[in-house]
Amino acid sequence: MAIYNLGSINIDWFYRVDNCPVNGETVAATGCVNGLGGKGANQSVAAARAGSVVHHIGSVGGEGVWAMEQLKAMGVDATHVAIELAGPTGHALIFVTPDGENRIVIYPGANRMIEEADVKTALARAKAEDMLLMQNETNAQVYAAKLARARGMRVVYSAAPFQLAAVREAMPHVDLLAVNEVEAQQLAEAMGLAMTDLPVPELLVTHGAKGATWYDLKNGEMLTVPAPEVDPVDTTGAGDTFVGYFCAGRDQGVETVECLELAVNAAALKVTRDGTSEAIPTLPEVRLFLE
Ligand code: ADP
Repeated sequence: MAIYNLGSINIDWFYRVDNCPVNGETVAATGCVNGLGGKGANQSVAAARAGSVVHHIGSVGGEGVWAMEQLKAMGVDATHVAIELAGPTGHALIFVTPDGENRIVIYPGANRMIEEADVKTALARAKAEDMLLMQNETNAQVYAAKLARARGMRVVYSAAPFQLAAVREAMPHVDLLAVNEVEAQQLAEAMGLAMTDLPVPELLVTHGAKGATWYDLKNGEMLTVPAPEVDPVDTTGAGDTFVGYFCAGRDQGVETVECLELAVNAAALKVTRDGTSEAIPTLPEVRLFLE
């Protein structure tokens, strides 16, 4: 089985700051590094490091080919990553404060220039037992979800960054929706429903330092796994690590409770490390952490 991930590829610029600038303030960063990021790329790397075969569907600008090469070096198939010369490559400015919290500005660039024809070509190779994963940092999600469903594939939608209109549009074509607890409440309120009545078969809700809950909304079941206590260094990419690991577990036929345990612990381990894609732990590291 394999995961096809329609996802963003960003160049992340990290700035360590003592405090985030307020209006009119200039802050000198105490450190600066860049690396591969973007919710899509992070989730692809997480799923690949969790042991799944991952085909990334996306687009970078001409100056971002190195980011695509990084994705490949981290074990992800990039055959379906287009080079969009009109770019630029999507990028993110990430301010990280000493408590490990972050504030982020992203510029989507090439991530929103994905051609439907390229999605079609990529999914033409997919099998019914494969999975489509997608987030909110690209275009073409509804197109891809409908196509994947028509091929009998399961569709997982990590609805971040959260946009109510996009989620409502995609939800009818999705088997599993992944959000954080604030977003889950926002969505339920906007639809005038209880969270457990959302019109999607399965729901994954992350609760930051408290862990995560999986709901089987069709059968009224739920499972909660608490997160281990860690000293947070950088929470960037924690949600993506969670989603990538959960999907990889599902892709490999692992029981839901174990998918959840692996995802929660992989994400907690990520929180103890600086950086995004390159900081996502491998499955052996997560197993060691769990001992
Ligand atoms: P998002 O970043 O998408 O809002 P969350 O903050 O809910 O997502 O975090 C996703 C997952 O990352 C959590 O379910 C948990 O496993 C892990 N995590 C996040 N913050 C912490 C923390 N402070 N301590 C331990 N685990 C954490």
